[in-house]
Amino acid sequence: MERNSRFDIIIAGAGAAGLTLIWYILQSSILRNKRILILDKSINPLNDKTWCYWESENLDLSDFIHHSWNELEVGANGNMFSEVLSEYHYNCIRNGDYASVIIKKAKELPNITFLETSINSFNSSNNFGVVETEAGTFEAPIVFQSVKPSPGFKNSKVDVSLIQHFIGWEIETNGAVFNPNKAVFMDFNVPQKNGVTFMYVLPTANNTALVEYTIFSDELLNENEYEAEIEDYLKSRYQLNQGDYNVVRKEKGAIPMEDRKFDTWYCDNIMNVGTVGGLTKPTTGYTFIRIHNQSREIVSALEQNKKPSVTKSSSYRFRVYDMMLLNILNTDHAISLKIFHNLFKKNRFDSILRFLEEKTNIFQELSIFSTLPYTPFFKSIYKMKHRIFTGA
Ligand SMILES: Cc1cc2nc3c(=O)[nH]c(=O)nc-3n(C[C@H](O)[C@H](O)[C@H](O)COP(=O)(O)OP(=O)(O)OC[C@H]3O[C@@H](n4cnc5c(N)ncnc54)[C@H](O)[C@@H]3O)c2cc1C
Repeated sequence: MERNSRFDIIIAGAGAAGLTLIWYILQSSILRNKRILILDKSINPLNDKTWCYWESENLDLSDFIHHSWNELEVGANGNMFSEVLSEYHYNCIRNGDYASVIIKKAKELPNITFLETSINSFNSSNNFGVVETEAGTFEAPIVFQSVKPSPGFKNSKVDVSLIQHFIGWEIETNGAVFNPNKAVFMDFNVPQKNGVTFMYVLPTANNTALVEYTIFSDELLNENEYEAEIEDYLKSRYQLNQGDYNVVRKEKGAIPMEDRKFDTWYCDNIMNVGTVGGLTKPTTGYTFIRIHNQSREIVSALEQNKKPSVTKSSSYRFRVYDMMLLNILNTDHAISLKIFHNLFKKNRFDSILRFLEEKTNIFQELSIFSTLPYTPFFKSIYKMKHRIFTGA
């Protein structure tokens, strides 16, 4: 490829955000013929991440769905609650499947170029976003990047900085063990040694499941510590000893849970998308649907020849809720568990999912809050007042 190449659009990073954006561009008769460059250090679809979401309106991802559950189960404070969902389905997509389909479709168009290279830096010059890579310099009037935090990231205001970190094992058991219609959304009935901790179990058949050990804390563990907890859980919950299953795949992750404000623009002409664009919901780590919403807004703006001005992922009200809960998760593990216990015991799961998706109105939110212990929330309003009363 020639150096200093110019394109109409550059997508720097072909993960969830970059590929989702190209997916919507492919569906746009106005944009699909533009000269587009997609850069990533590796364009080799791997099933090393499982993205789950609950169905949102106007979003048809049925071609990508690997498995879907209509019943969820939550464990907290020694109890188990389960409910068949009536408004939603809980769906999972494997990132390798998702990437393969999108990359194949994009490669059918001669105007779309994929390049495997390491991206070193971004800057802006003469109304072009400039991407410096190991393979040369590329520029376009608009660049969407999901590979680097903004320059101002380190100095941005942050009061709570937790990580949602996990290791998951996809296992195959010798006999039938799981109910493939029911996912364990969060089972907090596990030792709470290193932070608020839960197991997440996604069965895809009666003898296969992804079993994940997840912690909200500020420090990662050694891999063998997560894995020992998964082994213990398989034994105590499903009476599975080591010889009763094979680990067919592993996945791991560390997702930021912070009250930080993210910049929309890296610099002129270079927009931050995906996790580095602040799309992760701080208290849950869910990002995938927000990436879809952002990508659709970007495509709509580009179609109208406008600069994308993406609406904030969360309104002020939901940012305040997230700040309060983050503060509690950071400071009081026992109260956090009580909150999860009451939340799932006293509310319909559909209502909770709608709340987590930030689609509730203030009255529905007050109804949910009335089921929770409120003193810790008042305390966290006090502790976070310098943020809450200055625009969050
Ligand atoms: C294991 C895992 C499971 C998750 N599960 C869920 C879930 O169930 N539901 C949900 O909503 N969210 C989930 N998330 C959170 C979020 O949806 C994902 O992290 C998602 O991948 C974020 O998309 P992204 O494009 O911002 O980042 P990524 O998908 O990480 O993409 C960034 C891309 O940039 C490339 N890159 C980075 N640095 C360079 C460089 N210097 N040069 C070139 N290329 C570079 C990487 O190779 C990568 O392809 C999960 C995250 C993880 C890690």
